[in-house]
Amino acid sequence: MKIDWTKMGHGMHKPFMALATILASVLMTFNPAHAGSVSRIDANGSQITISFDDLVEGASAFSLVGPDRIAIDVQGGKAGRGGHATGIVKGVRQGQYTPNTARIVFDLERPAMVTAGSFSEDGKKLNLRLQPVGQSQIASGRQSFLPPANFRAEPPRKSYSVKMPLGKPRDSVNLPKIYGPNDVNRPLVVIDAGHGGHDPGTVSPHGGKYEKNVVLALAMAIRDRLVAGGRVRVALTRDSDEYLVLEERYGIARRLNADLFISLHADAAGNEEASGATVYTLSEVASDREAAKLAARENKANIINGINLGGATRDVSSILIDLTQRETMNVSADFAKLLHREGSRQMVFRKIPHRFASFVVLKAPDTPSVLFEAGYLTNKDDVAFLNSRDGRARVATGVASAIESHFARKLAMR
Ligand code: ZN
Repeated sequence: MKIDWTKMGHGMHKPFMALATILASVLMTFNPAHAGSVSRIDANGSQITISFDDLVEGASAFSLVGPDRIAIDVQGGKAGRGGHATGIVKGVRQGQYTPNTARIVFDLERPAMVTAGSFSEDGKKLNLRLQPVGQSQIASGRQSFLPPANFRAEPPRKSYSVKMPLGKPRDSVNLPKIYGPNDVNRPLVVIDAGHGGHDPGTVSPHGGKYEKNVVLALAMAIRDRLVAGGRVRVALTRDSDEYLVLEERYGIARRLNADLFISLHADAAGNEEASGATVYTLSEVASDREAAKLAARENKANIINGINLGGATRDVSSILIDLTQRETMNVSADFAKLLHREGSRQMVFRKIPHRFASFVVLKAPDTPSVLFEAGYLTNKDDVAFLNSRDGRARVATGVASAIESHFARKLAMR
């Protein structure tokens, strides 16, 4: 199966479409000359053997639960068809995930992890050992396997990176400025201040504060705190009172190849007692009615004067994209827990601090994303806290230390 990423931008604005088209076509022209095709897959009980007809660059494995699956990405590989399965493996599927990556998916009878794996001496077979584990033991993250150096395909030359038309800083693409260390290897986090321009978001009954202004000030405070920490790079989707449709917000994160995306909001409730912060991650099934209602409210930002600026909702139900999204959702949920852990040292969270719902702004399939409702603009104390210098500093410290621990943890796993 071929994934045409340009199609996913259906509802996005033209500049993004144009960029996506350029990227895709440039990538296609740099197909590796010699990619090993997957010639055979045997899953025999807990032993899996994947055979190639030529050399590949390497492979990585990750586990997924509900439904239970293991996915193998083969770099420098071409997908073949099907495979033979017995035992814990119920079925095998393959697809061409990117021009240079074949993805193989094993549907499992119960949760399992790859506990050992290695390439054969000639680099043309990858042997993996599976072990059933409890669902809670499934770790997010990948294990990588490399063929012996003499039998490893060279990665495709990335000469397209110099051929990209990057010249003009203020062309139609309009990517925001990246703050922090001038080092592309540092993780990049994109902070999105919700609403903006003609969309004020929630208007506080206490002093008439607009959500769009409250969250912009918070976004800037978090940016400054991260820049001062010097560990990660950071960009804002907006740094002024500007309106962006929801797809543009995560589109910016994707185009910058961000490692993490945080959308900042402030909540409203009929009950003025309601207070505290909540962190939301993406799920098609909302965790409760309140979460579903909030998602519907935040998603409305795309509909102005009855016209849906975000375009029709796309059905991105391809199994391959779905898998990436699920892996991304696991990482997002891990970050949500960290955000609660670090954040609650600085500010008040709600009783159920992590909830799920279908927020459009969290739908980038490949960027771990959370939506952070920093508090209630309908609650007097929350409004005072979020609008004070001390409150902003506390939110910034909590969010920034969660971000820094998240990336420290990821680096340690490598
Ligand atoms: Zn909002």
